[in-house]
Amino acid sequence: MKSRHKQPSSSTSSTPFIRVGPSGVHGLGAFATRDLPAEAFLGLYEGRRYSKHEIATKVWDDQLTYLFTLSNHETIDGAKGGNGTRHLNHACEPNCEAVEEYDEGGELVLKFQTLVAVDAGDELFIDYSLTADDGSPPSKYPCYCGSPNCRGTMLAPVDSLVEKVVQPAPPSPFGDLPW
Ligand SMILES: [Zn+2]
Repeated sequence: MKSRHKQPSSSTSSTPFIRVGPSGVHGLGAFATRDLPAEAFLGLYEGRRYSKHEIATKVWDDQLTYLFTLSNHETIDGAKGGNGTRHLNHACEPNCEAVEEYDEGGELVLKFQTLVAVDAGDELFIDYSLTADDGSPPSKYPCYCGSPNCRGTMLAPVDSLVEKVVQPAPPSPFGDLPW
């Protein structure tokens, strides 16, 4: 029955390097189907797109897991028409990353790629660096990645945000003097 609605293979095999299976951390996870070098392209984060206004007026139930908001404030809902990339779990020391890029049509897309070389069968992770717009405490988004440097939450690290805005001290007016 399903074969009658088969999609062109170009879209169904958009993530050939990802296999979805039970995760070692949480629910389902994504695993490498083969050895991959660093910066290997895994696939685009696909799904239904919503504008900032549409997201604000929509009532979300338990679907938040697959929402990805881009820097242009569009949100992609991987639960609707998404692919294997939506199953990458969070880790504080990830082996993959999500990179924004403009495609040939000028649309902002989210590209998943490896950060480091991975072996076939390795579970793939990205750092979600969530921001809690509603001011939820970090404990509401606990992390169980098990990394030695686990920060205990999937929210973006507060320290690194602070570091980004801290300016170096202005040079002393006497700094150039040789004594
Ligand atoms: Zn962690």
